[in-house]
Amino acid sequence: MLIVALTGGIGSGKSTVGEIFSQLGAVVVDSDQIARDVIERGTSGFDLLVANFGDGILKNGDIDRAAISAIVFSDPKKRELLEQITHPLIRSEFSKIVKSLPEEAIVVNQIPLLFESKGDYRFDYIITISAPQKIRIERLLKRGLSPTQIDQRIKAQASDVERESISDSVIVNDNDLTSLTKQVEDIWSKLTEINRLKK
Ligand code: ATP
Repeated sequence: MLIVALTGGIGSGKSTVGEIFSQLGAVVVDSDQIARDVIERGTSGFDLLVANFGDGILKNGDIDRAAISAIVFSDPKKRELLEQITHPLIRSEFSKIVKSLPEEAIVVNQIPLLFESKGDYRFDYIITISAPQKIRIERLLKRGLSPTQIDQRIKAQASDVERESISDSVIVNDNDLTSLTKQVEDIWSKLTEINRLKK
C-alpha cells in the first residue's frame, strides 16, 4: 500500500487531479468529504461544534458550513478551534478507510490543509498542485465565490512555496487539461513503481 497526499491551494485543481488519479486506478479519498461526514447530525463532531460555536451555526438542525466559514475565516482563533475539533476526527476516519483497503492499493488523499497540519500526518509521498493566483481566482469566480471570499480563503492558507517545500512532486496546473493529465500520468508511473518495489 502506498499512501499519497495530494494538496494545493483553493482552486488549484485538487478535485480535477483526484479524478484523473482515480481513472488511473488510485483509491481517491477526499478529506473535504470526510470533513463533512464527521460533523453530520448524530456524530460526536456535530455535538462538539455546537457546544463550542453555539446554535447559530445550525440551519434546519444541520451544521451550516457557510455559517462556520463566515466565523472562522474572519477569526484565526476560531479557525484554530475548529481545526482542533475536526482534524483528529478526520484523521481517525481516514485511518479507518485505509484499514479497509487491499494491501496493493495506492491511496490518494486530497487534503487542502496538509502544510498547515503536516506534523499530524504520515504520508509515503506528497504531491502539491500549484497554479498562479490569477488563474485560481478566475476559476473560483466562475464557480461563484465572491472576490472577498476568495481573498479570505487564500490568505488563510499556506502559500504554494510552503506546500512545495514539503512535497516530493509538484504539478503545475497553469495550462489545459491535456498538460495536466500528462503530469498526473508521469507521477502515477512513479507511484506504481514505488509501490511495486515496496512489496
Ligand atoms: P477547492 O480547493 O475549492 O476544492 P480544487 O483545488 O479541488 O478546489 P478544482 O475544483 O479541481 O480545484 O478546480 C477548480 C476549477 O477549475 C474547477 O471548475 C475545474 O474544472 C477548473 N480547472 C482545474 N484545472 C483546470 C485546467 N487545467 N483547465 C481548465 N479548467 C481547470
